[in-house]
Amino acid sequence: MLVACAMMLAVIDVSRCVGHEKCHARGCCPTKAIIQIDPGEKVIVDTSLCHGCGDCVSECPEGAIRIEER
Ligand code: SF4
Ligand code: SF4
Repeated sequence: MLVACAMMLAVIDVSRCVGHEKCHARGCCPTKAIIQIDPGEKVIVDTSLCHGCGDCVSECPEGAIRIEER
């Protein structure tokens, strides 16, 4: 029998992410799951690396990151 297993993941609210020159939340991520291609660009989350620890949430001054069950 297959059992669905919920995962907690960081989600970026693109309407709130202002794309800081250097993302404040990126440096605190233990798995380097927050990706910023170029300085000042909005960030994305590599869902294959994120384990939903939530460390990044409080680091974003814009409140652009939340943790969701997926
Ligand atoms: S700190 Fe927040 S607003 Fe700034 S780039 Fe990172 S996620 Fe976006
Ligand atoms: S929830 Fe944890 S693993 Fe996922 S992006 Fe944030 S700091 Fe990284």
